Amino acid sequence: PAKTMDELVSLCKRRGFIFQGSEIYGGMQGAYDYGPLGIELKNNLKAAWWRSMVYERDDVEGLDAAIIQNKHVYKYSGHEDTFTDPMVDCHECKSRMRADHMKDIKVCDNCGSSNVTEPRDFNLMFKTNVGPMVNEESYTYLRPETAQGIFTNFKNVVDSTSRTLPFGIAQIGKSFRNEITPRNFIFRVREFEQMELEFFCKPGEDEKWHEFWVNARKQWWLDQGLTEENIEFEYVTGDDLAHYSKSTVDILYRFPHGFEELEGVANRTDYDLGSHTKAQEEFGLSAKVKKNEHSTAKLAIRDLEANKWEVPFCIEPSAGLDRGLLAVITEAYTEEELPNGTTRTVLKFKPHLAPIKVAIMPLKKNKPEIVALAKELKNKLQKLGLGRILYENTGNVGKGYRRHDEVGTPICVTVDFDSIEQEGAPVTVRDRDTMEQITVPAAELPAYVVNYFIN
Ligand code: ATP
Repeated sequence: PAKTMDELVSLCKRRGFIFQGSEIYGGMQGAYDYGPLGIELKNNLKAAWWRSMVYERDDVEGLDAAIIQNKHVYKYSGHEDTFTDPMVDCHECKSRMRADHMKDIKVCDNCGSSNVTEPRDFNLMFKTNVGPMVNEESYTYLRPETAQGIFTNFKNVVDSTSRTLPFGIAQIGKSFRNEITPRNFIFRVREFEQMELEFFCKPGEDEKWHEFWVNARKQWWLDQGLTEENIEFEYVTGDDLAHYSKSTVDILYRFPHGFEELEGVANRTDYDLGSHTKAQEEFGLSAKVKKNEHSTAKLAIRDLEANKWEVPFCIEPSAGLDRGLLAVITEAYTEEELPNGTTRTVLKFKPHLAPIKVAIMPLKKNKPEIVALAKELKNKLQKLGLGRILYENTGNVGKGYRRHDEVGTPICVTVDFDSIEQEGAPVTVRDRDTMEQITVPAAELPAYVVNYFIN
């Protein structure tokens, strides 16, 4: 794994994974842009999550709710009142910082001075005006989590799918938080993506499902290539719990800057549906919620055995896609000493995450038969639907191997004279991790590649 953030930042920029946002204007703090390979890696990680959370289960539905929602959503979700971080100002160097690590000793992060203000609450939501009239009433917020769109659509999903408990709703999308101090590359940013599941169950079964999802989510991260030794659980308690949570287990990963939260798995109880439902008094809610004077829907489900309506409990595994990507790159980053004394940098991504699946390179740039066969193979492999297959004609295969090691391409295929002249037409297949080269008949390459990526 990578030892420093700097080596990742530099590789990510050099090879086109991640760029500083608004770079040509001096940058925009807490915003990053994903380049040609970054977007592939991101899409692959999202697809893996969706596969595991939606397709491989028969009790989860997908959703894509709007980012801009009615301001009442945030009034009743509790975010307007309580989604804050403590902030302090330093009188000496005039910097401003997040203060939740300053419980015991209050010293400035920047200059070390203890001449700092008392912490005060800072709301992390971006406020914005909607419509042509800018007045007191026309505001809303950019969503700070995708979850609220799931809760507000609870009745729509239940009515359209006839679900009964337990079942979940999954969503991937952008969230925005006006972080006081964005830092550590894409670890803490102001615009990011979340992959969230809200899993609804009967009250009383919530603790069982909470434990289930903590373990299932850890296993999923292991399947993405993270290793056991770099993952830890943290049991969040007391003041550190979010306003909606009865208990939370954070899944931490050993990032280059230390063990930090990758995903939070929270028991949100009946807090959210209970907050957003009308006729709250009918349900005997367990969570303490604000009295709702605006909702037009009952967010409850029929318990067929007891023949009554109830507000389910909710378990939420909430993962950050950007943090996930940072974890996956950190883990994949490898520097290897080669027998000839040089070192090579390899991103050892799991094949399903690799931004480029196969690179196809003609050995000779200007030989029409070789070029034609290479292009034909590219088209054939592209049709398999495994992801990006790159045809690359630079005439320098050695350099190509090194570049593809650095971006984590699992397989490079070279087409040479033998491929067009010999019986059985072999191409050379080179493996990223072992650097071994074998020959495979060109006609059998699609089957070889499918077998490699599917198994
Ligand atoms: P932290 O304590 O690090 O601020 P959090 O506890 O506020 O995180 P949650 O509200 O539990 O985070 O959000 C769920 C997930 O969303 C986090 O585990 C993380 O992966 C991701 N996430 C939250 N805030 C950010 C951010 N500012 N930048 C990138 N990802 C984030």
